Amino acid sequence: MEKKTELPVMNSPHMPERSATIGSHGKRKWVYHEPAKGFWTKRRNVVTSVLILFYLLAPWVSMNGQPFMLFDLVSRRFSFFGQTFLATDLYLLALLLVLSVLALFWFSAMFGRLWCGWACPQTVYLDGIFYRVERWLEGNPRERRALDNGEHDDAYWTRKAAKHLIFWLISSAMSLSFTAFFIGPQASYEMFWTFGAAHPTAMAVAVVMTAITYFNFAWFREQFCHFLCPYARIQSVFLDEHSLIIGYDPVRGEPRAPMRRGETEQKGDCVDCKRCLQVCPAGIDIRNGLQLECIQCTACIDACDTVMSKIGRPVGLIRYDSAAGIEHKSRKYVRPRVILYMVVFALVTTMFIVRLSSREIVDFAVVRSAGTPYLVQEDGLVRNMLQLHLTNTDTRTRTVTVKLASDVPAQLMVLGEPFLIKPGERIKAEAFVLIKRDQIKSAATPLEFKLMDGTQEIGEAVAKFLGPVYTGK
Ligand code: SF4
Ligand code: SF4
Repeated sequence: MEKKTELPVMNSPHMPERSATIGSHGKRKWVYHEPAKGFWTKRRNVVTSVLILFYLLAPWVSMNGQPFMLFDLVSRRFSFFGQTFLATDLYLLALLLVLSVLALFWFSAMFGRLWCGWACPQTVYLDGIFYRVERWLEGNPRERRALDNGEHDDAYWTRKAAKHLIFWLISSAMSLSFTAFFIGPQASYEMFWTFGAAHPTAMAVAVVMTAITYFNFAWFREQFCHFLCPYARIQSVFLDEHSLIIGYDPVRGEPRAPMRRGETEQKGDCVDCKRCLQVCPAGIDIRNGLQLECIQCTACIDACDTVMSKIGRPVGLIRYDSAAGIEHKSRKYVRPRVILYMVVFALVTTMFIVRLSSREIVDFAVVRSAGTPYLVQEDGLVRNMLQLHLTNTDTRTRTVTVKLASDVPAQLMVLGEPFLIKPGERIKAEAFVLIKRDQIKSAATPLEFKLMDGTQEIGEAVAKFLGPVYTGK
């Protein structure tokens, strides 16, 4: 069994008793942090820019003629990477959900909170847009603090109004994109250009989302990660001492002390300059050990590496490592829990692929219409009325017809044939089956229906023909 240990970096004697952004009287302590500069920040800026484009544009683009991503809850139609799933694909959707959960387990066990620091929309939008706008309008942390604590004159209100107006506009654009994930690009365009008249419910959702987005990014910010995000709160279940974290190396860094000219006494590498605190968007001191509030954003690595380079010490006092590595023990990449997640993931993926490849192109069912089970016509034919249910689960439009196979000579009349069905579309159609009375040998004659796209058979369904058994009278 894998050894389950409490993460040693959490046992720092400096660990605070309450969240770093909550003051002694329970009041919010606003974080005025600086942007970091360095190796990781450069890379994160690139990733952030790409992801902002992805998050904003993903619901508007198509793939294979299908929305790239769509979660249409009303029609119960979902698209991922151009692959459409309908409510009838419940099994596939359940497998996808299981795969996502397994991927989350594996990813977290291996890479800790890499998602939080690099890809979470909360971090990406805050870092890539909102903090930048704030710095542009209100200056560096010292200037921002002075503005907030100084006189609330005209200049103060002008800057604040400009900032919040821009925040609101950005929040509107974000929530329009967010709504498009659920109603699709076409409906979103219509909603936008008719000011909501075309889709009032979606418009109401978009307005509420704008308010929530604005509140979150203008004010709530890091508090979301500290107190609301479920992923942050269950991290301790996923992480072990070999998972990737960003940590401060107390073996190298302690005893921390400012550097003084001419001092010869050997101290730790940490010169207590607090640069790591000044760049931290979560407002925490990484030297206190692994903390729930840390989103693993790498800012403190870059800040500390710059200091280490300046004072001629090796970089990496704060670094990507595991809890074991931070304690200068060896790190294990292959662990029982990681192998287990991968094996189960591979099994479920195989099930998903098999099921996906055997999925019918058009979901086809034949059911009896309500009312009289059969009708004996004056011309001696017995008539059954049926309903055809067709759902196109394919990514392209299909033109289909229905053929009948039965042990006895039977005629099929389908109203509205041929059917043009768009991807994801469902249609119902009426059909009649007629059999001569003297041909009916059973009270329930089996019928087999074949669904044809040109000469290609793409589905089949069965039903029973009900009628009076012919006894020669
Ligand atoms: S930036 Fe590095 S040297 Fe400065 S306080 Fe933080 S850990 Fe210590
Ligand atoms: S402690 Fe470091 S990695 Fe964690 S949130 Fe603060 S700056 Fe980012």
